[in-house]
Amino acid sequence: MALVVQKYGGTSLANANKIHAVADRIAATIARGDRVVAVVSAMGNTTDDLIALARRVADRPDARELDLLLSTGELVSSTLLAMALRSKGLEAISLSGAQAGIRTNASHGHAKIAGVEPRRILDELDRGRVVVVAGFQGITDDMDVTTLGRGASDITAVAIAAVVEADRCEVYTDVDGIYTADPNLVPEARKLDEIGFEEMLELASYGAKMAPRSIEMGMVYDIPIMVASSFVEAPGTLIHKGADMETRVTEIRNRVRGIATDVDVAKITVLGVVDRPGVSAELFEPLAAADVSVDVIVQNASEDGATDLTFTVKRSELTRALDVVEEVSRQLGSRGVTSSDNLAKVSIVGTGMREGSGYASRMFRTLADHNINIEMITTSEIRITCIVDEAVVADAARALHAAFELEKPGP
Ligand code: ASP
Ligand code: MG
Repeated sequence: MALVVQKYGGTSLANANKIHAVADRIAATIARGDRVVAVVSAMGNTTDDLIALARRVADRPDARELDLLLSTGELVSSTLLAMALRSKGLEAISLSGAQAGIRTNASHGHAKIAGVEPRRILDELDRGRVVVVAGFQGITDDMDVTTLGRGASDITAVAIAAVVEADRCEVYTDVDGIYTADPNLVPEARKLDEIGFEEMLELASYGAKMAPRSIEMGMVYDIPIMVASSFVEAPGTLIHKGADMETRVTEIRNRVRGIATDVDVAKITVLGVVDRPGVSAELFEPLAAADVSVDVIVQNASEDGATDLTFTVKRSELTRALDVVEEVSRQLGSRGVTSSDNLAKVSIVGTGMREGSGYASRMFRTLADHNINIEMITTSEIRITCIVDEAVVADAARALHAAFELEKPGP
């Protein structure tokens, strides 16, 4: 008898029929003799709709009120799912995040889980009930309801799996797993049976879906996470530690696990910045203060005491970033600021890259053979990323997918 945490995303719960289908799925798990904690997102686009509604009422909705409002989306889906389960003769109870013991800090809109007090969940499981928890929310020490950030029901699920010591955490969504590349760009993309936490983190922050914080939490607490579709009966992708001997050998042989792409990239260049200590800090501190997240940064070696500094930001943050950078650039007496917002990132990802060599050269050769210009390059231990023109990102992803033979299943 296993204890399973199952997370269902908004598309899986978008209407009454789908809620019944989810209830059937849970019933099937119970029929196998397992115990289930279900964590749910809000139905369909509920969260977007509530945010839009709040903005019609106030230009800048109050953060505390907005959180309490948004938390209702998950209350709707959790209560309806509990009713559907009961209508099928199962014992079930819904719990809000607060009732489920999810304590957070007071950062409204992006609260962090401080701890989970699992007593109520465990008591209800002991009573033989399916426990349906409203995802994405928690409560502060002052009893204010918080939300954990967009897409954060995944985090609720993994956090609960950790504290109740679940045997597994299953995340049901509208895609059937993690792919070697975005199937919309690369038709040959293949579903992976398994992937390491670190690799998934690189893929997650570079386009594939699942809240990155939930993967980090899975990694720290060693919770294997199965990502699968709630619409088809097919095994998904297991995200796990993956360091057993055989897996390790496979990783090294396979080297590259997937291609990540991201088209939300803009670039800013500050021309002719004086080359003296403190310049970068003077530039990036105000950007951080303006809540702009800076990604790839390239600073050239200087000639004649001046250098160009280029970095990327999200497109949606470009205007905000430029306001800051133009001001600082004037103060620094640089030659000017240029920007473009039609860029994309393409990355190769794989823990096997730690062990071997030749990945970078193969990546660059492949892009060259396809006449794709690389604007910037950045690497981590298990990833190489090139910034390219948005117009060629699909070509780049397809070419790299073929060059690293990702269409072939591993040995
Ligand atoms: N409903 C929330 C959102 O749309 C949380 C989630 O879906 O995980 O961001
Ligand atoms: Mg959602």
